[in-house]
Amino acid sequence: MKRWTRRQFGRLAGATCLTVVGRRVARSQARARVVVIGGGVGGATVAKYLAASAKTLAVTLVEPKPHYTTCFFSNLYLAGLRSFESLTHGYETLAQRYGVNVIHDSAAAIDPVAKIVGLKSGPKLPYDRVVVAPGIAFKYDTLAGYDEVAAQVIPHAWNAGPQTKLLRRQLESMEDGGAFVLVAPPNPFRCPPAPYERASLVACYFKQHKPHSRILILDAKDSFNSQDLFLDAWERHYRGMIEWLPAQFTGGIKAIDVRERSVRTANDTFKAAVANVIPPQMAGQFAQQIGLADQSGWCPIDPMTFESKLQPGIHIVGDATSAGDMPKSAFVANSQAKACAFAIAASLTGSARFRPHLFNSCYTSLAPDDAVSNAISFEPVAGTIKIAHSFVSKVEESAETRRRAAREAESWYAAFTHDTFG
Ligand SMILES: Cc1cc2nc3c(=O)[nH]c(=O)nc-3n(C[C@H](O)[C@H](O)[C@H](O)COP(=O)(O)OP(=O)(O)OC[C@H]3O[C@@H](n4cnc5c(N)ncnc54)[C@H](O)[C@@H]3O)c2cc1C
Repeated sequence: MKRWTRRQFGRLAGATCLTVVGRRVARSQARARVVVIGGGVGGATVAKYLAASAKTLAVTLVEPKPHYTTCFFSNLYLAGLRSFESLTHGYETLAQRYGVNVIHDSAAAIDPVAKIVGLKSGPKLPYDRVVVAPGIAFKYDTLAGYDEVAAQVIPHAWNAGPQTKLLRRQLESMEDGGAFVLVAPPNPFRCPPAPYERASLVACYFKQHKPHSRILILDAKDSFNSQDLFLDAWERHYRGMIEWLPAQFTGGIKAIDVRERSVRTANDTFKAAVANVIPPQMAGQFAQQIGLADQSGWCPIDPMTFESKLQPGIHIVGDATSAGDMPKSAFVANSQAKACAFAIAASLTGSARFRPHLFNSCYTSLAPDDAVSNAISFEPVAGTIKIAHSFVSKVEESAETRRRAAREAESWYAAFTHDTFG
């Protein structure tokens, strides 16, 4: 694995597949039908890139929600550093500028023989290719006392929207001096640095508004992503405010008591003023239902085309996939979606296939003027996906470098959501 500078990475990551998809598909005369299920980052990107690339494709996007709220940057909202509205995006541009047929409904079934998607409200959509991008589901049965009903009292806020608002309201109304207890999930899960970014930004909010409050992280793991960067930042910005207890110390998380608002581990019980339980995760419910997930709970894919290894003819992108070294991030979902769009376009028009370019790039906020980043490129190798090159921020970086990363993060958000939703 080679180490890169962020600049080298940026040059390559910028050269993604849209132009290639466009050139190839424009040659096709047939109006083939592609149905994309799930209008999050993965699904919206597939739909946009296929529709943008050729009028010869009829692209339908099925998504129940009228608006999409990004999980990414939602921790800034929790800290009062960003508005909820700034995280919310509509589907109008996909429909009006790119001609995507957006249907606000849920997919209920796929008939892979007849090639038909059945919608919850009744209609049936015939397709030539179908893409499934349903995000994640929670393994509620693995955490005693915590389920969908409990989440209305103790939010997970791991799908952005009403859950995020609920957690923000609880943080605002808690008394100064209370404990914020965050339960961090076992691997693999959506966005590996995000629970620790959340702890950092809640500490930032406490520092200003509730200086006697403390944060306790009860982790299902013994180590976590970018641990050195977080521990360094917690010491510099929030000394004495954040305590992290690994599973080997607590004996593991055993149960959640919603009425008491407490978390029981093997060795102790921790009472919270505000609790945030991020449960163990698996591929989204629809992927489970139609047999795309294996025993791991995630969906194995062909790394060249993102076609299911279990259900040929159905493509999957985003967090639901089991994609080798690729983490579950919005950037990855977007990158996979472009590779998938290219593969579908190639297969529908008979044009040549190209090796996919796959990337992740992630900014993590530690404090308002202190952000770190990573940038990783991947390549398909022997039926899976491996890291090829990587850049990761270092503990010893200057304050100016960190300030610059915080500014870049803002620009990244604007460019990335434009790339995804038009
Ligand atoms: C707190 C937090 C911070 C994060 N920060 C970052 C970050 O800084 N950078 C980054 O790259 N990533 C970040 N992420 C991760 C990122 O949000 C996810 O990786 C990304 O949203 C995955 O995209 P997706 O399309 O797979 O799933 P989603 O975005 O969850 O989209 C899935 C969509 O499918 C729809 N759906 C589900 N079932 C059906 C059905 N049956 N029919 C129709 N539609 C259906 C859902 O309504 C949803 O809109 C963060 C995540 C969290 C929780």
